[in-house]
Amino acid sequence: MGNEWRGESNNRERGTEVKRGSKCRRQVRSNVVNNNEGEQWLTPSEPSYEGEAEQKVKSHTERNINRKAKASVMEIEVPVVIVGAGPAGLATSACLNKLSIPNLVLERDDCHASLWRKRTYDRLKLHLGKDFCSLPHMPFPSDFPTFVPRIDFLRYLDSYVSRFKISIRYNKNVESAYVDHNTGKWRLIVKDTASDAVDVYVSEFLVVASGENSEGYVPKVEGLQRFEGEYMHCSNYLNGRDMYGKNVLVVGCGNSGMEIAYDLSNWGANTSIVVRGPVHFFTKEMVFVGMTLLKYLKIERVDKLMMLMSKLKYGDMSKYGLVRPKDGPFALKRKGGTTPTIDVGCVGRIKKGEIKVFPALSSIKEGKTVEFDDGRDAEFDIIIFATGYNSTVLKWLKDYRELFNSNGMPKPGFPNHWKGENGLYCAGFSRRGLDGIAFDAQRIANDISMTTTARGPDGDDANLASLKLIQK
Ligand SMILES: Cc1cc2nc3c(=O)[nH]c(=O)nc-3n(C[C@H](O)[C@H](O)[C@H](O)COP(=O)(O)OP(=O)(O)OC[C@H]3O[C@@H](n4cnc5c(N)ncnc54)[C@H](O)[C@@H]3O)c2cc1C
Repeated sequence: MGNEWRGESNNRERGTEVKRGSKCRRQVRSNVVNNNEGEQWLTPSEPSYEGEAEQKVKSHTERNINRKAKASVMEIEVPVVIVGAGPAGLATSACLNKLSIPNLVLERDDCHASLWRKRTYDRLKLHLGKDFCSLPHMPFPSDFPTFVPRIDFLRYLDSYVSRFKISIRYNKNVESAYVDHNTGKWRLIVKDTASDAVDVYVSEFLVVASGENSEGYVPKVEGLQRFEGEYMHCSNYLNGRDMYGKNVLVVGCGNSGMEIAYDLSNWGANTSIVVRGPVHFFTKEMVFVGMTLLKYLKIERVDKLMMLMSKLKYGDMSKYGLVRPKDGPFALKRKGGTTPTIDVGCVGRIKKGEIKVFPALSSIKEGKTVEFDDGRDAEFDIIIFATGYNSTVLKWLKDYRELFNSNGMPKPGFPNHWKGENGLYCAGFSRRGLDGIAFDAQRIANDISMTTTARGPDGDDANLASLKLIQK
């Protein structure tokens, strides 16, 4: 298994989309075979060219697209459309399939789980133990290690897709989605990224599963455009094979930043890391113990134990530039603050002086010189930004205000974040990783099932009032 993992990793090359894409296409073909039988309920129809009045309710996007590709626009009606074939979209589709509710997943990439296949580094393993990361109705195999490597997680997701006969349409970028106020249904304008064809999908329920991590975030740094070295977001970092002997700066000390810094140091790069504020750091095993204890003890007690374990293992790290926050790790997480960092070896390298710590970046001076907040400066060949991700929901979802805020994240807090108005739902937006995704998927599927059952076979709303009473 270890060798296969290395083999697969070696085939992934940073910046060579063709090579990575061809791997995905192999994947796609096998899924198409699996999915044929699940799509019999689709009701494609030839385009209907509406009159002026109907056109008015449509967005500019659809009108523009209709003008360009009128002859080839298909309208496809599906009870539930799910946008995104990451773990959240797959989990929701599986839960709906278990309840025999027809649904279709639209994915902009040419494979499912594209984040894990294309935009994560080779040495990544699930940060949390496998008991906290499985998707609904399918635990990880017992012979998988506690911390599942990226490639095994992908294998698990591939079997998940086959086992639950998940219907995915690849290369389908959802460009716009809005409620048609005449019918009360969702209309999605979807572009095929391979052929440029545009179709309209119509659905009663829309599940947004396009991910909290949809787009890498690189902060504005004065002078970055004139930096004469190379810079990238960490989603483009696969490994440090080409970085031996180079001066590399990793910006950010979350899970990705710390692990990439450790990886770079293993590959022989002269590695530095920016740590701009207090941070909790624990081993994977400590987090595993903490999460298990949370089932039995209050957060405050578990937090105290966690901080004690961290101090015993690492001691006072402030002289090396790593200061711990005053609040405990789980309390901070509950408040929506920073997630504790899982240390895979970076802290030890910092202690040995093999990885240098710098405070926040202040600007890029001429050439390759980077200036820091404390007035120090240093030269780097490469800067890797491990500075987080953005949700891109607002780029395409037009009727969102009930559910999403201006950052493309749910307005209601956990556990009420997954449901909006007009049959709109979101899965994977609670900042609770795969465990949160499993929670969302099951609630969404049950809610859609209750709504459709309450309507009765003829689609009337006779039982809806009593359903609402039951829910209250
Ligand atoms: C490096 C890294 C490590 C992580 N490790 C863990 C871990 O160990 N444990 C854990 O619990 N969580 C972890 N997470 C957090 C989380 O579980 C993952 O990010 C997970 O992949 C989220 O799944 P998702 O389906 O919500 O989003 P994604 O995996 O991002 O999937 C969203 C999908 O939607 C597609 N999409 C987006 N926009 C459109 C559009 N307009 N039209 C069509 N398709 C679209 C994307 O192409 C993508 O395939 C990690 C995250 C990262 C970044």
